[in-house]
Amino acid sequence: MNDMTALEMQDLLIDGRRVAPLTGRYFATVNPATEQVIAQVAEAGVEDIDAAVRSARKAFEGEWGHMKASDRGRLLLKLADLIGRNEDELVMLESLDSGKPVSAIRRQDLPAVIDTLIYYAGMADKINGQVIPARTDALTYTVREPLGVVGAIIPWNFPLMIGMWKMAPALACGCSVVLKPAEITPLSALRIGELALEAGFPAGALNVVPGFGKVAGQALVDHRDVDKVTFTGSPVVGRQILQSAAGNLKRVTLELGGKSANIIFPDADIDAAVKAAGSGIFFNTGQVCSAGSRILAHADIYDEVVERLAARAKSMRLGDPLEASTSMGPLVSEVQMNRVLNYIDVGRNEGASVVAGGARATETGYYVQPTVFVGVEHEMRVSQEEIFGPVATVIKFIDDEDALRIANGTVYSLAAGVWSADINRVHRFARQLKAGTVWINTYGPTDIRLPWGGARDSGFGREHGDMAIENFTEPKVVWINTGR
Ligand code: NAD
Ligand code: MG
Repeated sequence: MNDMTALEMQDLLIDGRRVAPLTGRYFATVNPATEQVIAQVAEAGVEDIDAAVRSARKAFEGEWGHMKASDRGRLLLKLADLIGRNEDELVMLESLDSGKPVSAIRRQDLPAVIDTLIYYAGMADKINGQVIPARTDALTYTVREPLGVVGAIIPWNFPLMIGMWKMAPALACGCSVVLKPAEITPLSALRIGELALEAGFPAGALNVVPGFGKVAGQALVDHRDVDKVTFTGSPVVGRQILQSAAGNLKRVTLELGGKSANIIFPDADIDAAVKAAGSGIFFNTGQVCSAGSRILAHADIYDEVVERLAARAKSMRLGDPLEASTSMGPLVSEVQMNRVLNYIDVGRNEGASVVAGGARATETGYYVQPTVFVGVEHEMRVSQEEIFGPVATVIKFIDDEDALRIANGTVYSLAAGVWSADINRVHRFARQLKAGTVWINTYGPTDIRLPWGGARDSGFGREHGDMAIENFTEPKVVWINTGR
């Protein structure tokens, strides 16, 4: 698959084979940096999803479901190894399909994918039950059993990484997976599916079914034989999934967006804070669920923060994602670009002012200039709604109470950052901020060992760590009457 001709037609991956879709339809996936079509991808319909789910069920009840836990771990390690060996190809695929700079994928996404696999490989044979001595007339214990067939629905902002956050723990637990990648970025997931077969995963343990959300995604969520849906994406679709999952009472984990506050106090290391605030909103062209899209600056340092942040925005190197020196790529699609440009208009109309960027950056490719809004009021749409693009809103606050009120004043609760040297203040904020993760004197790092997720419109449930094992297993009680 190293040359473009091999990319041209991409079939579904069901039951251990690449198969043409029963719909007979293919859709184009585009390189957002060039607007060129890079491949025609099979479009899964309801019947294709059904075939994938049946294959996953067969695997779960067959070879895959009976495999020794340590052997599942070995397969995950083998896949990690194969991903490492195919790094160049995967980096290229991910970049072409999503517009992410290769430098970022190599530095961040790929190592995170491999780390995730190694972490859950080690966990596969450590999923223990408990002996709970409830009675003196019985031996009572629990075992943790895999849930069964998992539907994983992922977005386009980190296709490889978010895909692996779901696949690796599900497979470690012994579940089988039907993965529905985002229609805008289906290519890397299909390649991971192939590598999993090469690693030795039995047919059906991992099926990859590209297609559209309203058809393929919806069919997966509606399917009566799917036991669990794990979803990352928008709150609108999250709500829809929750309703559809009620059909057979599927378990659901939802990781939806955010409008995270990054709060800077005058006693902070302003240099470090502004640097991190810049990458907090501009990394991955702002298409990050935990992006620090609201930068809260204390009145005493507001002007300084604005000036330095605007300078950082202007110094970003937009360009060809395949160039190692590019620090910011395009938005992932034309739709997303227009959405972001529309929000920039909304901000201007609401009375906020642009001090950096504010427009499309190129004629070809979906590039938007890194943009900084000032004079932003807490109630404006641009400081309440998730833009999912390189648009920072800088909001002034006067004291701790004000900062906390603004920071907690959206419908989201995913992440927050605080920059201060005052130990009492940072502990107080860590306690009072409504967020799944609070970063103190840093912004943005994640680690597979730490629980990840949010509350309210950011969704519910936690991924990562041993929490993910609970997502894909269920305890069973065994009660053996021993008599007194
Ligand atoms: P989306 O929620 O529409 O899509 C995410 C995934 O869900 C895709 O794979 C899509 O095919 C699938 N999907 C869509 N409708 C579905 C349905 N009815 N049933 C089942 N699956 C369905 O997100 P989007 O349209 O790609 O982006 C829109 C906005 O979502 C973004 O602008 C951003 O605000 C937010 N978003 C958040 C994250 C995140 O990491 N939390 C990621 C991507 C997008
Ligand atoms: Mg694409």
